[in-house]
Amino acid sequence: MEPHGGRDPLPRNMIENSMFEEEPDVMDLAKESPSCPIDSDDVVYEPRSSRLLVRGLGENDQDDEEEDYESSARLLGMSFMNRSSNQRGATSSFVRQQPSGLCSMPSAKTTVLGVLVLVVVASVVMVIYFLPSCTFSKEGCQKSNSSTIYPVTSEGELFPWSELRLPTSVRPVQYEISLHLNLTTLTFQGSVTIRVVVLNETKVIVLHSSGMKILKCTFQDKEVKVLEYKPWQQIAINISENLKKGQTYVLNINYMANLSSSYDGFYNSSYIDTTWEKRVLAATQFEPLAARKAFPCFDEPAFKATFLIKIKREREYISLSNMPKAKTTELPDGLFEDEFESSVNMSTYLVAFIVANFSSVSMNASNTVVSVYAVPDKKDQVHYALQTAPQLLQFYNSFFDINYPLRKLDLVGIPDFLAGAMENWGLITFRETTLLVGNHSSDIDKQLVTSVIAHELAHQWFGNLVTMRWWNDLWLNEGFATYMQYMSIQKVFPHLEIDNEFLRVRFRALEKDALNSSHPVSSVVNTPEQVEEMFDAVSYEKGASILLMLNATFTEQVFREGIKEYLKKYRGGNTDSNDLWSSLSQVIKQSVDVGQMMNTWTKQKGFPLVTVSRAGTQVKLMQEHFLLNANNVTASSNLWHIPLTYVNDTCSNSISCRQVFHFKDKTAKFEVPTSVKWLKFNYRNEGFYVVDYGDKGWEALMDALKENVNVLSREDRASLINNLFALSRLGKVSIIQVLNLLTYLKNETETAPLTEALRQLNHIYRLLGKRSDLFLVSRMRTHIFDHFGDLMDSQSWGKEMSVSKQELRSALLETACTLNRLNCTQQAKALFNQWMASNRTMRIPGELLKVVLSVAAQTEQDWNTLFNTYKFSILDSEKRKTLQALASTQNIRTIMWILQAGLDGNDIQTPELPLVISTVCRHFAGHLYAWDFVKENWDKLTQKFPVGSFALQSIIASTTSQFSRKLQLEEVQSFFGSLKERGSQMRSVQEAIENIELNIRWMESNLATLRKWL
Ligand SMILES: [Zn+2]
Repeated sequence: MEPHGGRDPLPRNMIENSMFEEEPDVMDLAKESPSCPIDSDDVVYEPRSSRLLVRGLGENDQDDEEEDYESSARLLGMSFMNRSSNQRGATSSFVRQQPSGLCSMPSAKTTVLGVLVLVVVASVVMVIYFLPSCTFSKEGCQKSNSSTIYPVTSEGELFPWSELRLPTSVRPVQYEISLHLNLTTLTFQGSVTIRVVVLNETKVIVLHSSGMKILKCTFQDKEVKVLEYKPWQQIAINISENLKKGQTYVLNINYMANLSSSYDGFYNSSYIDTTWEKRVLAATQFEPLAARKAFPCFDEPAFKATFLIKIKREREYISLSNMPKAKTTELPDGLFEDEFESSVNMSTYLVAFIVANFSSVSMNASNTVVSVYAVPDKKDQVHYALQTAPQLLQFYNSFFDINYPLRKLDLVGIPDFLAGAMENWGLITFRETTLLVGNHSSDIDKQLVTSVIAHELAHQWFGNLVTMRWWNDLWLNEGFATYMQYMSIQKVFPHLEIDNEFLRVRFRALEKDALNSSHPVSSVVNTPEQVEEMFDAVSYEKGASILLMLNATFTEQVFREGIKEYLKKYRGGNTDSNDLWSSLSQVIKQSVDVGQMMNTWTKQKGFPLVTVSRAGTQVKLMQEHFLLNANNVTASSNLWHIPLTYVNDTCSNSISCRQVFHFKDKTAKFEVPTSVKWLKFNYRNEGFYVVDYGDKGWEALMDALKENVNVLSREDRASLINNLFALSRLGKVSIIQVLNLLTYLKNETETAPLTEALRQLNHIYRLLGKRSDLFLVSRMRTHIFDHFGDLMDSQSWGKEMSVSKQELRSALLETACTLNRLNCTQQAKALFNQWMASNRTMRIPGELLKVVLSVAAQTEQDWNTLFNTYKFSILDSEKRKTLQALASTQNIRTIMWILQAGLDGNDIQTPELPLVISTVCRHFAGHLYAWDFVKENWDKLTQKFPVGSFALQSIIASTTSQFSRKLQLEEVQSFFGSLKERGSQMRSVQEAIENIELNIRWMESNLATLRKWL
């Protein structure tokens, strides 16, 4: 999945929680016959928490015992409270069964007791409700390590499974799903037939289902009762006889449900066409946990099966699914039924179907029919994607040496889509912005579309063909797809100059991972909220960064051989990180243990700070955890196996100059000739670490750059700038030192270092601006203009050929106009007036559109004109830039209106709300209102965007990241603290708090000196 629809970074972070992973070690009820009445002597009740706390202390977790207790408790508190508030009195009860669980045949005693069970169950409900608060502490509820607690359904019956993860005694082999959709009533009826195979004898089948009404269930053609435990979205059927190992059985469920009104499951979407008619459509978004909302299924990535899908629809629509259509039948009632070919073996989260009135264009490429679908009004915008996708498909076919296995590949632009895109096998869904390109779109717009297509296509191998076993290793999907998207574009579309973007992504990943609230790339996850939160910068961006480091260390050829080996070996299956390392070690001929090396990057959070000191010929190295708020936590003694690279003044630019030193211990040293003047580590910033050169080392490097900027590559220069600011945040280098060292920038002309410096200075400027410290704001503005003013004024406003020049220009002019540089705002206004005079037919270069429109949006009259443009625009990239301009207004009433409009979803589609909020927050007038808006509308926001989702992560970060006062910190803490189960456990909340603390600290240590110096 591509988590967002644009370049605006989405802040994503969360809490660490470790509970249980993989197979539960509790009694397998399948073997224990839960359908038998339970002897009353064996029945006790207990909140789920205690049991799970026990589970939280698996053998592997002993070292972190304390933390696990706490985190599990927080988490369970959350789930428990969830149930209490929603289903209290109905479902909030659990029954423990002794593990011996000897369930003899019904006797007189048990028959009588069967009745008593009901009474007990009722009591359970009462008692759990009034149970003295069982604190989630070590002493609290822990009772027996070896017992299992079963939940009770809303009908008061015992639910025969006690874990969030499904049992593995049966697995699905084949699904046949028949859907009848009604786009008028926005409901659907479904029938799913699942053939399951028994792996271990059992008397129970447990699967997922959410939000549907089950009408009838048969097992082997006999009607059976379905038990449902809603809080865990599980249903179960008890079978009277043991299911035999190795046998297959057939389960059929008929059900009905409403189309989802959020953006997951089988949801309805609508748009207004150019004749002002409202059009409806239905589409799916299942990753990570929403296939269960469309059909009952074993909704975990390791339960792969084949899917045969049939959809009944009305004549005016088409339907699409993962596989090619096998046939269409006209039914007596005038409806049509489309039947699709049976799918390849795949995970439930990759299943997809769409019913809509889209139009398409197709072409044949590498034995695959590639089609691009869009709403009919936008059919002219599909051609870029249609040219691009086949080239990437061909590249991946040959790079992975495994051909894309399906005969067709559809790329579909969906109006009203929350994620950036989703890699459903054979039916990739996109936001319109990430798929459609107009005739006049800029290269930067094309770069975005190409990136997202490249990302989703890479998933057809990494994710679809070989899938992570469980969400804890999501990075195997997302880190790889992110890495491959940049790598493939470098090879196939070098003119798009994607390198700068990949470098920015790595810088962003370092920033996220420097917080204590970060988490290991491969983290233990269990609850739905934790699964949602895995879709963050660590899985995507750090994942991609460490793959780049791996590639750079062992060469691309070896890396490629390794992943080919991995894909061939695990094709069609599920894997974890170790499987990847073992495939790579087979091809790496060096003596390095790749698994051991990479585990230091995937199993511990954060990254190292390498401190370099030099005395004559000797270079001393020291590594420690780069943790921004180390004051609050005990410093970890973590060590990383760093493939440390470096160049020196005698040879610094070409790859052949690069030397590699495997740095695994706390300290190390090596020798260099006396004649070496300086060393630059982390060649081209391909490694995931920060380097501190010490005062002398920094000076030597900066002096060299002042003499000749070209002694280092542009990536190396950008990396020095990035590391300096990072060290300033860490408190190792003062901001004055940073600004002094950066005087070399006056000679800089390259995009990567300049945009990095601008980004960092803008960040400081915005922080100061939000404190209303007018003196410092104005001094900072002068400082930025001193360094960049000439460059800003020399930018052209006409067509610019190269992508990197376009990137530089838009960064410079955006800063210039935001800081009200007269030259910039005048030019922008003039261009806007010409554009209006031409009735919007004149071309403004795509990358300047946002700057020009944002300047215009500051007057009421032009704002209104722009709003009309926005409403009528069918060119999505232009529409989005117009929206950003509208949201940049400084008029308080308009700000309040636009926030509300984004939430209502009529004038502005709700998936754009995170973008609206982040834009509003960039400006002084809006950021306090946005925070109030989020507080007031929290419940509505969590109805639209699930707790933990990247949309919510983004909203939290944009509204809080610029606070730098203690009062604001207290307010944020108190607001999120009061939410309890409605979001206070989110990792992004911890991240927000940590960021404000860091801002406060930064202000305390730098404000006074900054005031003197600037
Ligand atoms: Zn993805």
